[in-house]
Amino acid sequence: MPDNWLKTEQGRTMDSFNYRNGKLYAENVNVATIAAQVGTPVYIYSKATFMDHLKKIQAAYADIDTTVCYSIKACGNINILKSLAEAGSGFDIVSGGELYRAQQAGADMSKIVFAGVGKTDVEILEALDAGIGYFNIESEAELENLIKLCKEHGKKTKAALRVNPDIKYDSHKHITTGVKETKFGVDIERAHKVFDTYAGNGVVEMSAIHVHLGSGGKTIDPYVNYVKKILPLVADLRAKGYTIDTLDLGGGYGADYETDTVPSAADYAAGIVPLLKAANLKLILEPGKSIIANAAIMLTRTVFKKTGGEKTFVIVDAGMNDLIRPCLYEAFHFIWPAQVEEKFVPDKRAKKLNLPGTETVDIVGPVCEGADFFAKDRTMPPVARGDLVAVFSAGAYGYTMASNYNARPLCAEVLVNGDTFEVIRKRQTYEDLVALEK
Ligand SMILES: *Cc1c(COP(=O)(O)O)cnc(C)c1O
Repeated sequence: MPDNWLKTEQGRTMDSFNYRNGKLYAENVNVATIAAQVGTPVYIYSKATFMDHLKKIQAAYADIDTTVCYSIKACGNINILKSLAEAGSGFDIVSGGELYRAQQAGADMSKIVFAGVGKTDVEILEALDAGIGYFNIESEAELENLIKLCKEHGKKTKAALRVNPDIKYDSHKHITTGVKETKFGVDIERAHKVFDTYAGNGVVEMSAIHVHLGSGGKTIDPYVNYVKKILPLVADLRAKGYTIDTLDLGGGYGADYETDTVPSAADYAAGIVPLLKAANLKLILEPGKSIIANAAIMLTRTVFKKTGGEKTFVIVDAGMNDLIRPCLYEAFHFIWPAQVEEKFVPDKRAKKLNLPGTETVDIVGPVCEGADFFAKDRTMPPVARGDLVAVFSAGAYGYTMASNYNARPLCAEVLVNGDTFEVIRKRQTYEDLVALEK
């Protein structure tokens, strides 16, 4: 029986969710044990998996001065951040709340980059007080305000100007951010003007360029191409006497949700490192989902099975409030029962696993919305009321996007480490739901 069935031959998207004797394990822990103790729905993270992803990225770029700043918005539990920080990760934040999370996790503030188009004065002052590494600047107005606040409060900081290389690639429209007509950053021509106008401000050192393609790219080309588009800008700015020593290449490296086709960190590095080395540039990376997506499952229990009509519905106890990606992004997640007969143990991450005896079902939640689904017309071994079902690759933009819609308490998060597991976020209670209203 295949062990590590989610692992590719190249060890690309190594993760630690495997079937043993037909039972799903997270590392060495039977997920049914977690469900029995903690209840469902529950997010189950594998520490070995996200640490492995971080280390592979760090190793791939070891040839140049690189800071990996894990993107907190992908998954922000402070216990996970703590492990990543201990392994040398910095953090990409987009709000004061994420700054607070990083602080609670004991992060090195000098390795924090702060992105976002609408940073408030309060958030900026919090970040200045904390002494973060870089503000990623999205507009002239934002830069002017940052300079003003630094002067008023006697602070100095560093900024990376976010530039739009105007590169299109194959992804969902809501997560494509590196093209001209978005609210993020400035285009290359305008970047010159921003430097000419503001570089001599005396308090905000403008020594970096930031680019972020958006999420979900599945090939290396767009990433190499945007470096190639940015390097002439760097050369021009240097020729004018500005010091540019760092390129922040953002995040968006595809995670493997469907097939083993996304490039590895080493594949990206092979294209990017030589270019930066030649240009004598330091590197910042902001990976989110490529570190955490495959490092978690969401485990849910079958409440009812509804048959008899044209379709068969598997109604589970998790809803769109627990995992919104399928209905928000039309995202694909591999879904499979946590206990199966030997013949149904998947030997590949095969979304079209069409074995005799499987059935085609819609897997849906209990929320009162037609959009509350996890998969439609999906082939799966038959499940019955009470059976556990795992939604794979749920680590990124899963729990962080969860809500209390339908007055559903936020579910629990569990971290598995080898033979042991611990609850890293308790399930909310009904009292929690109304606590701030009293
Ligand atoms: C969301 C975001 C990231 C992380 O994106 P992933 O697709 O999770 O890698 C990195 N940088 C910025 C600026 C972002 O907005």
